[in-house]
Amino acid sequence: MIVPPTPMSDDSPTSVPFQDLPQQIRSLRSELDAAIGKVLDHGRFILGEEVTCFEKKWAEYCGTKHAIGVGSGTDALHLILRALGIGPGDEVITVANTFIATAEAISYTGAAPVLVDCDKTYGLIDPTAVESAITARTRAIIPVHLYGQPANWPALQQISAHHTIPLIEDAAQAHGATLVDGRRCGSLGLAAGFSFYPGKNLGAFGDAGAITTNCDTLAAKVRLLRNWGSTIKYHHDVAGYNSRLDTLQAAVLSTKLPHLDKWTGLRNQVVSKYREALKNTQIRVIAKAPWTGTHAYHLLVVQLPQNLRDHVAKTLASSGIQTVIHYPIPIHRQPAYHHLQIPAGALPNAESLSTEILSLPLFPEITEQQIDHVATCLSQAIAHTPRR
Ligand SMILES: *Cc1c(COP(=O)(O)O)cnc(C)c1O
Repeated sequence: MIVPPTPMSDDSPTSVPFQDLPQQIRSLRSELDAAIGKVLDHGRFILGEEVTCFEKKWAEYCGTKHAIGVGSGTDALHLILRALGIGPGDEVITVANTFIATAEAISYTGAAPVLVDCDKTYGLIDPTAVESAITARTRAIIPVHLYGQPANWPALQQISAHHTIPLIEDAAQAHGATLVDGRRCGSLGLAAGFSFYPGKNLGAFGDAGAITTNCDTLAAKVRLLRNWGSTIKYHHDVAGYNSRLDTLQAAVLSTKLPHLDKWTGLRNQVVSKYREALKNTQIRVIAKAPWTGTHAYHLLVVQLPQNLRDHVAKTLASSGIQTVIHYPIPIHRQPAYHHLQIPAGALPNAESLSTEILSLPLFPEITEQQIDHVATCLSQAIAHTPRR
């Protein structure tokens, strides 16, 4: 007899995964099987009707005129910049504490990424630093809606309007996040790049991404670029790329999308429970900003006194609790970007945050018992650490 592996049991307080995708998939398994089965039956794996259908739903969800499915979040950002004609000699401003892809999308075009600091409180791109970094060569600004909450849009919008430089959203972590006025991430800038990497709040079963925009011209250009510069087979208007959203991934995303708001709600409840459990400790949960309406809580990031963070992560690991650091090394301190010659100490908030942050297990299905286990182990780890 073949004994199937036992899935992580809900009532096991002894181990807490960082996220639990198989559990979510099990809950939707029959719907997913049906959606995938339909694609297998018709066989139109590239730009099949499921892609158009998801694009329509995603545009509606975000509140934009267009959504264009592409191969990944990285490609989404890259294709937006290409469609804007950004290239060698140009500068694009973004933040140092982001996933490397934000900077790489800029580098692919031949433009120079200009990295600026974040604020201390939310870890979001600092609008004042953005304004100081603007030069005659600046062609775009890419604020990152980090951890699931919008960047400081009121301030960024003013700067963008004053200097007539477009804002491109890196919305890879912000599915369903809103400003206090209700506008959704993805509809705030000239265009936005989303990632549907499996671990994102809306995740496919492989790499996937989308661009949202209200601009017809930009939408038409990225549609060309994602498909070798072609709208008619074997006729190529521009030299483009091969970066389509797979039909299968679109089918998966359309199946999951109706559950996204419920999952975001659950993530918010989980975070409230964590906050409550940690309120009498020196552990600070990164705060919700005053301009944020819905925080999508892609990640639950806590800040710990510098000397404690690594010790705490190790202690939690020994109690079976998985944590991750988002991100341990700011972009300007990565070997890949040493050529920017930004010295250590130049972006102090991004640098100090990288030594203090820790992302705790957070997924819609996490149990109360698992949250308590994490909070208890966290408090104990801190109590048993000698202060310096
Ligand atoms: C995930 C992510 C990306 C890249 O998306 P992929 O789909 O993995 O290419 C870009 N920026 C941020 C902030 C991300 O979190």
